[in-house]
Amino acid sequence: MKYYLETYGCQMNKAESSALETILREKAWEPAPAEEANLVLINTCTVRATAENRAWGRIAQFAAGKKRFGYTIAVVGCMAEQYKDTMKERVPEIDYVIGTYQKQSFGLIADQIQAGTHFDLDDEKPVFQFSKTYHEPGAFRDFVPIMHGCNNFCTYCIVPYVRGREVSRSPEEILAELDSLEDLGVREITLLGQNVNSYSWKDADRTLDFPALLRLIAEHLRARHAGGQSQSKGIGWIRFLTSHPKDLSPELIDVLASEPVYCKHIHLCLQSGSNKILASMNRKYTREYFLDLVDRMREAIPGLSLSTDILVGFPGETDEDLEATLDAMRQVRFSYAFMYYFNPREGTAAVNLPGKLPDKVKKAHLARVIEVQKEITSNLMQERVGCVDEVLIEGQSRRSSKELVARTARDEMVVFRGEMSRIGQFARVRLLSISGNTFKAEEVHE
Ligand code: SF4
Repeated sequence: MKYYLETYGCQMNKAESSALETILREKAWEPAPAEEANLVLINTCTVRATAENRAWGRIAQFAAGKKRFGYTIAVVGCMAEQYKDTMKERVPEIDYVIGTYQKQSFGLIADQIQAGTHFDLDDEKPVFQFSKTYHEPGAFRDFVPIMHGCNNFCTYCIVPYVRGREVSRSPEEILAELDSLEDLGVREITLLGQNVNSYSWKDADRTLDFPALLRLIAEHLRARHAGGQSQSKGIGWIRFLTSHPKDLSPELIDVLASEPVYCKHIHLCLQSGSNKILASMNRKYTREYFLDLVDRMREAIPGLSLSTDILVGFPGETDEDLEATLDAMRQVRFSYAFMYYFNPREGTAAVNLPGKLPDKVKKAHLARVIEVQKEITSNLMQERVGCVDEVLIEGQSRRSSKELVARTARDEMVVFRGEMSRIGQFARVRLLSISGNTFKAEEVHE
């Protein structure tokens, strides 16, 4: 049996696609081009209109090819949850619309496709389950979902509606997943959740929040490595995505400052530097809180780098609000930012907010933040030239077969000359110069 998989959207979706692939591969299915596949699987995103339109376009293409190639079409992800009642009416060629809470039935669906029968999803009681990470043989970085959903209801965001409320994964399951990935040679893990630092686990014996989970993971890995398992090839770096500023507690800062396994880089979404806009977005923090949080983090964690998301063109955003965002960006000096302008998503509260800005103004605001961020990134990179830092070697450079591509814990791209046999290992390099967004470097053995 063969499958073709297409994924849209965030890291969470990519991790979920990996989990679906694990199920298929465990059943001896193989990846193939769509024309040869028994199953075309589309994992969708509805956070932005562009991703949604692209997915609709691809679904229509696959629907048009269905008669000729005879595959089954299944749609999963946020669009499947959002449009679960109407998707098949719009595209009758779709065989399965698998919502967020029906993914646990995916294995049964695959079995039925193989048997040439149909599985009725309506018979399944909706419940969310975490699935095992699919590990690409030879890969040394993997993503491990630890929580799912979001309770925050930022007024522009569709996630709480399509992913549901927050559900956390059991610590035992997380540790077991880390152990099995480490045994497969994984060196870097990213813990994933829409709102990762509001992780919360409760059972009869204990309550565990995100800092407590991070301590547990660090202690577990230390004990494992001290016991000789995977000592020199074990997990060396752990990152996490995405952090909400309101849930970034002093305890979390303490863990990050004291446990070296956690990368000194945090993606912390600012969205706007204007208190008026932050309130209208329902972000639940102020500009002053954010800036103070950054100061406290930087004081506790020397060398910490921060990246962010910036959303401009929100209803009611004035030039003054935009200036407040630019000013906050200049104060924090994010190493990079994902920048986008407001596009109303049907079903979210922001759709009904007054003061919508014309596209021309939104684009002009976006151009300003991009320009300012470019300058900040460039200045930060200049300041880093001459520094010695640790990197994880990711692969061969596309430009030269003699060069390796690597990444620092601060999420900076680096190329340097070295043997291909070093891929997947840590090294120390001196940053020598800058080419675009990448550092040229040399290995140091100090
Ligand atoms: S925190 Fe806000 S932006 Fe992030 S997923 Fe939740 S609702 Fe969406």
